[in-house]
Amino acid sequence: MPRPVFDVELISKTQLSDDTLQLAFQFEDDTFSFRAGQFVSVQFELDGATLKRSYSIANSPSQCASSRQIDIAISLILDGRASRCFQEAAVGEHFGISGPFGFLVLPEMLPKRLVLVGTGTGMAPYRAMLPELEKAAINGVFLHILMGVRHRHNMIYREEFTALASRHSHVSFDVCLSREANPDSMMNEFSGYVQNRFSHLGLSPDRDLAFLCGNPAMIDDAVTWLSEASFGSRQIKREKYTFSR
Ligand SMILES: Cc1cc2nc3c(=O)[nH]c(=O)nc-3n(C[C@H](O)[C@H](O)[C@H](O)COP(=O)(O)OP(=O)(O)OC[C@H]3O[C@@H](n4cnc5c(N)ncnc54)[C@H](O)[C@@H]3O)c2cc1C
Repeated sequence: MPRPVFDVELISKTQLSDDTLQLAFQFEDDTFSFRAGQFVSVQFELDGATLKRSYSIANSPSQCASSRQIDIAISLILDGRASRCFQEAAVGEHFGISGPFGFLVLPEMLPKRLVLVGTGTGMAPYRAMLPELEKAAINGVFLHILMGVRHRHNMIYREEFTALASRHSHVSFDVCLSREANPDSMMNEFSGYVQNRFSHLGLSPDRDLAFLCGNPAMIDDAVTWLSEASFGSRQIKREKYTFSR
């Protein structure tokens, strides 16, 4: 059965970084619900055609329940059709949203450590999980959160993950800068790709559950690395941001 399409109103647009736009959409009623880590399909009209693109929900289910709003974070692609449409969209415009979709959600039984890896807007699902991550940390689960971006000015949601890490000694948040010459180690910045950090984390399939989200090349490399470290499919959860054809 096809999923219902919800009519939503664009209620705000926020530039999160040079190339990332956050959009907030409001639902007409409270029938839409989701689990942190899931994504939606957004429909839009462009040059007379109806197109769809998938985006992770970036705010928590509890925020959505109280406000009837979801946030999405869009990495703007030069000549991208959704990128153009959302850049030009005015607050007050209406869109169709279907979903929620996806399985990048926290399990009921948490492991000893969660390793959450995202590139760019691939951090959005972890932002949606923040209340659950806080609870997990309070219950003693170790968290290692890794954000990969090209440059420092591409980072998003840094303050929120830094704040979580600052409240719990067993939560860490590192940023990997693949094209920045001078990472600041005092700010937990490292050079290179996120998957280059894996060898420093003492990863173990007996203790860790790995979440991977964002750039498909990062996910392929990370899965190869983790498989060689004896992680099976039950110890890796992933959401690949593949392009539409
Ligand atoms: C499950 C899922 C969840 C997703 N969640 C998000 C999300 O939360 N945030 C987000 O920003 N995107 C997300 N994406 C990707 C998103 O759906 C679009 O593909 C993306 O926004 C580009 O759409 P566009 O219409 O602007 O570009 P298109 O018009 O589709 O593409 C224009 C050109 O750019 C190329 N291109 C497209 N994307 C990229 C890219 N990332 N890097 C380099 N070249 C590219 C295409 O090959 C094409 O040549 C997700 C994808 C999936 C499958």
